[in-house]
Amino acid sequence: MTDTREATLLASVPDGLLIGGQWRPAATGATLTVEDPATGTTIKTIADATVSDGAAALDAAVAAAASWAATPARARGEILRRAFDLLQERREDFALLMTLEMGKPLAEARGEVTYGGEFLRWFSEEAVRITGRYGLNPEGTGRMIVSQHPVGPCYLITPWNFPLAMATRKIAPALAAGCTVVVKPAAQTPLTTMYLAKLLQEAGLPDGVVNVLTTSSSGPVSGPIIADPRLRKLSFTGSTPVGQKLLEQAAHGVLRTSMELGGNAPFVVFEDADLDQAVTGALAAKFRNIGQACTAANRFIVHSSVADEFARRVTAAVNGFVIGRGTEPDVTIGPLVDDKAVAKAEALVKDAVARGAELATGGSRIDGPGTFFEPTVLTGVAPGSNILTEEIFGPVLAITTFDTEEEAVALANNTEYGLVSYVYTESLARGQRMIDRLETGMMGLNVGVVSNAAAPFGGWKMSGLGREGGAEGIHEYLQTKYTLTPA
Ligand code: NAP
Repeated sequence: MTDTREATLLASVPDGLLIGGQWRPAATGATLTVEDPATGTTIKTIADATVSDGAAALDAAVAAAASWAATPARARGEILRRAFDLLQERREDFALLMTLEMGKPLAEARGEVTYGGEFLRWFSEEAVRITGRYGLNPEGTGRMIVSQHPVGPCYLITPWNFPLAMATRKIAPALAAGCTVVVKPAAQTPLTTMYLAKLLQEAGLPDGVVNVLTTSSSGPVSGPIIADPRLRKLSFTGSTPVGQKLLEQAAHGVLRTSMELGGNAPFVVFEDADLDQAVTGALAAKFRNIGQACTAANRFIVHSSVADEFARRVTAAVNGFVIGRGTEPDVTIGPLVDDKAVAKAEALVKDAVARGAELATGGSRIDGPGTFFEPTVLTGVAPGSNILTEEIFGPVLAITTFDTEEEAVALANNTEYGLVSYVYTESLARGQRMIDRLETGMMGLNVGVVSNAAAPFGGWKMSGLGREGGAEGIHEYLQTKYTLTPA
């Protein structure tokens, strides 16, 4: 990997706002900079949208809405399929771009290209499976027709941690359903979305169907868009506090909403678990994306009879991690996204240790350049520690113990979040009890990573509303009409 290759790639990423098929500067000419978190250096300067750009982007989405909704489903699906094929041709470019703007190791970025790409392929297939129902009413006096229709223009807000997959997970089902969109990526990682939008144009997407707003003022720019009566849907992935704020705003126009919010995943290891499997799963569930995933295992709840051995094995594995810039070969742990994230990990570890936890390894920030934190294992984390209630979003594996199944269930469910849980047991009956008892929208039963484009991704409780992916994903962008005609 050479700097020249990085420079060439960065130069080929657009630097404007995509509005109505045109890449253009912000109306004010304002710009924002994107940094590489591994070095702290600026890698690109791009347009910084203001309120009037937001209005123009929504105008474009509204103008394109009727013709896109009337475009045959097969044609919509084929554009998505072409986009999938183009993405495969450019996998290395997309992977490198994500590593540069977000920091994840290149191998993981390649994994995200595969995962993110699958939403394009899956929804290219789902576009032609939008169906309805037809039948006589029970009285025999009328014919009932139930049909599905695109909800209309959508506003899609994505986070920085999975710059490609969070975008395709929303854009692909919206387009498949016949909706036009305005996408607003996080200011820290906008480049992948811009590059994706350029690829969608190449795949034949008509002007105005996808519009991209990059901005350093997400609240002020988003507010008027969400308040605009022409907008029909808001889909958000990000933190629960921002999601709550956006739900309040969306209530005004009674918008359809999808909310993929925060998590606090329990990872429960029973005494009858296959420990090798549990350790492998734990490392994936915790350290993938440097711990910065909503699905990241946050609380390791381990039976006291196997806790020492589990801790010993995960610590040995963590001590073998290679920390560095994600572009370097063999690196397994990149930087955290910014200094705030480092400070949070540091504070959570400090609090846990002050309350009696022991540091098996790691525990400290690493001097710059870049925003790195040591991969860390904490054992004996005491009840009441902040790390058990807050989303860590960093490479810190925190272990607590339990003695009975009842206790494990109570600990696992002791959170306002309910995105995903992980359970390791060799007992089928116990596994099935956990499916019934754990309050999460997803579960990995002897598996450490659950995400799949063909599955309904989403949470219970304060982890969100709605599902992305699977057969469910396209329904987030469809509305139902029931029609009655005489028999
Ligand atoms: P965040 O601060 O909530 O930001 C998410 C997105 O919302 C970004 O694009 C951000 O833009 C934008 N935003 C922030 N304030 C806004 C406002 N007032 N109005 C409109 N948009 C606003 O979350 P994050 O720190 O980027 O992401 C981490 C969080 O996302 C974690 O809690 C994680 O669990 C969650 N997450 C959930 C899922 C899931 O599927 N459930 C997946 C991935 C991540 P700017 O950053 O540019 O301001």
